[in-house]
Amino acid sequence: MSNALSALETTELGDLSIVSVPCLNDNFAYLVRDGASGHVALIDAPEAEPVEAALHVLGWTLTHIFITHHHGDHIDGIEDLRARGNVTVIGSSADARRLPVLTESVTPGESFRWGGIEVQVIDTPGHTVGHIVYYMPGPGALFSGDTLFAMGCGRLFEGTAQQMWGGLSALANLPDETVVFFGHEYTATNADFALTVDPHNEMLHRRVHDVIDTLESGGRTTPTTIGLERATNPFLRAVSPDVAREVGLPDADPEIVFAEVRRRKDAA
Ligand SMILES: [Zn+2]
Repeated sequence: MSNALSALETTELGDLSIVSVPCLNDNFAYLVRDGASGHVALIDAPEAEPVEAALHVLGWTLTHIFITHHHGDHIDGIEDLRARGNVTVIGSSADARRLPVLTESVTPGESFRWGGIEVQVIDTPGHTVGHIVYYMPGPGALFSGDTLFAMGCGRLFEGTAQQMWGGLSALANLPDETVVFFGHEYTATNADFALTVDPHNEMLHRRVHDVIDTLESGGRTTPTTIGLERATNPFLRAVSPDVAREVGLPDADPEIVFAEVRRRKDAA
């Protein structure tokens, strides 16, 4: 039991306790408990088993599942988990036809209440056209799915670079201290790539050293913060003249620079 407990990394933010649950090869699901209401939400459900094991160790009862997007490695665990109890499944109304049956659909751009917590649904098309992220301004938590990663962003499977840049810009405008819980442990490869387009960024170099230390000691790189991403994520740094120059587009609009950085990452 103590081994299992020590493997659960918990972040406390206001009334929320947030536990990262590694799933499949490199996915993170997140269990979020609101101490005020006792509600427990799972953000994305790659598979049921590790989530059930974590719930057992924590002594928590799952009440809600929030879905960011329709990919199998974010929804395949939902049917097993909902079959075990009274679980409310929440996802985007805009993508409901591709998601498991929703108990409640939410509209991108609107807010809903989860227990006592306000949850803003931010529209982030690009990785998929119906991708949404969940932002809780009270505790300052963002669940970014496959839109924003540590030093990375999602591939453009369905949307355009322009759409993705719009969503990423909205996230970059959240308060710096916002804690970001992302969908995949891609941080090592993201770090290698970041150095190729932002080689003179001292903060990036320091962060890469920290990330290597964390991963070599068996740790996880989630969560991050908006402030850290603004300073070191090469995709958010499309606004920086340094990155624009490095990719051969001095004076270009950030959206154009972003598209080029994304193209280079895809080709890397
Ligand atoms: Zn995905």
